Amino acid sequence: MTARPRLRFAPSPTGPLHLGGARTALYNWAAARAMGGTFLLRIEDTDQARSSEQSLRIILEALRWLGIDWDEGPERGGDHGPYLQTERLDIYRRYADRLVAAGHAYECFATAEEVEEGRQRLQAAGERPMYDRRHRDLSDAERDALRRERGPGSLRFRMPLDQVQVLPDLSKGDVSINLAELDDWVMVRPDGMPTYNFACVVDDLEMGITHVVRGEEHLMNGFKQAVLFERLGAEPPRYAHIPLILGAGGKKLSKREASVDVLEYRDKGYLPEAVFNYITLLGWSFSGDRDVFTKAEMLERFRIEDIGTKGSRFDDAKLRWMSGDYLRRLSADELVERVRPFVHGVVPDAAFETQPGLVRNAVRCYQERAELLAEFAEKLGWLFADRVEPDDDARKKLAKSPDAPRWLADYAALLETSALPPSWPDDRTAADAFFELPSSADRPAPAGTAPCLGPRELEARCRAFAEERGIPFGQLVHPVRAALTGTTKGPGLFDVVFLLGRRVAVERLRALAGGSAQPA
Ligand code: GLU
Repeated sequence: MTARPRLRFAPSPTGPLHLGGARTALYNWAAARAMGGTFLLRIEDTDQARSSEQSLRIILEALRWLGIDWDEGPERGGDHGPYLQTERLDIYRRYADRLVAAGHAYECFATAEEVEEGRQRLQAAGERPMYDRRHRDLSDAERDALRRERGPGSLRFRMPLDQVQVLPDLSKGDVSINLAELDDWVMVRPDGMPTYNFACVVDDLEMGITHVVRGEEHLMNGFKQAVLFERLGAEPPRYAHIPLILGAGGKKLSKREASVDVLEYRDKGYLPEAVFNYITLLGWSFSGDRDVFTKAEMLERFRIEDIGTKGSRFDDAKLRWMSGDYLRRLSADELVERVRPFVHGVVPDAAFETQPGLVRNAVRCYQERAELLAEFAEKLGWLFADRVEPDDDARKKLAKSPDAPRWLADYAALLETSALPPSWPDDRTAADAFFELPSSADRPAPAGTAPCLGPRELEARCRAFAEERGIPFGQLVHPVRAALTGTTKGPGLFDVVFLLGRRVAVERLRALAGGSAQPA
């Protein structure tokens, strides 16, 4: 009978969740979900000097942000808890006693200096530098004497010296090593704290873990752990040691190349679905011709065996592109919800409550071009600002039109007598409900049906106005845009006029027209 699959993510809470850790979590989660198994979270916090509650909180937050949920673990509980290793010390002690009694572990009293001295001696003799196993074969009397003299020692694993260990790896195939090449590694420190390899094996065994996907930096640990499983009379889980994520240069991912802390992506406004999707692709592919897929689609196809054996390169440009792709798929209401935390101080809180149509229209104007949610803060600044000043580019363009002040004043006079929507903070619900921006997706309103002029009608009137005054329309738009937004970029100009509404549009046109403008 095969056991129901149980997989785990076992982070050490010694820092944020990095991209590599997120990928490990994601693959274990996906494998568990794809096989209809259980995914659990275990916190490997036995390195007390480096572990912190703060890191644990941040890791859980990052997992939640990515949409990786767990069936057992911190904040959820489960039948195999506790899920923090420091709360499981009595379990490790029981296993340690059992291994010592069976002769598979022994107490070693060597000081750090002695261990180092032993390593150097081996190295000088042309052998592999490691703990020289000096206390492996002490008699009981010798051990007692050393314990009296030095206090409790550490517990080391008695590595079989005459065994070739084969590790069937789901990613690498069969890999083997002569165990004599591995240390009699420390299982329990003199203060009673278990080390990673020991606690990991006890927990994988006690928690019924069936598969482990992790980075190939753990391959040597895989051998150590597999032998310990054997000594405990149990089958190890099926391991898959997968290649590291590489940076653009083909080397290990460096901090310079990518902000490797997952929550930094959240803070920069990447969409979590895109980050999830992108991380999935760092070692696995959905199909030859599709990079964007839903979680459900992924789970239909995901198999540990298909994780690639070559390191995949992290490419921030592709991740950004993917974030933009997901951003375009959001409904307008969803986009507004996502954008909201990023535009504090730029879009007044009250606008979300009292003029949701205005906010939705404004946000939607950028949906086609934005990639990150954080971009909206910069993009929407002009709309709710008290006043705008032309930036350098806008000034350069203005300098080319000496007649601009007069054009602006005349155009202001036209708008003043046109049926524009009211300006924020006045109620403009009717206008925003009627005209769905961006206007490119909008048809002209049938005559007499609209509560005011929409972007299409505003454009038609502006063209007629330019023609009547003999102003080339192509030249008029630059000063108008500079006056209304302060920039040379942005959404369609008549979407801008529409969003600003009559009072503010007129004010801004007149402000830039300044004292030199002639009345119409
Ligand atoms: N705590 C270990 C790490 O963060 C877990 C390794 C494993 O999955 O066994 O690297």
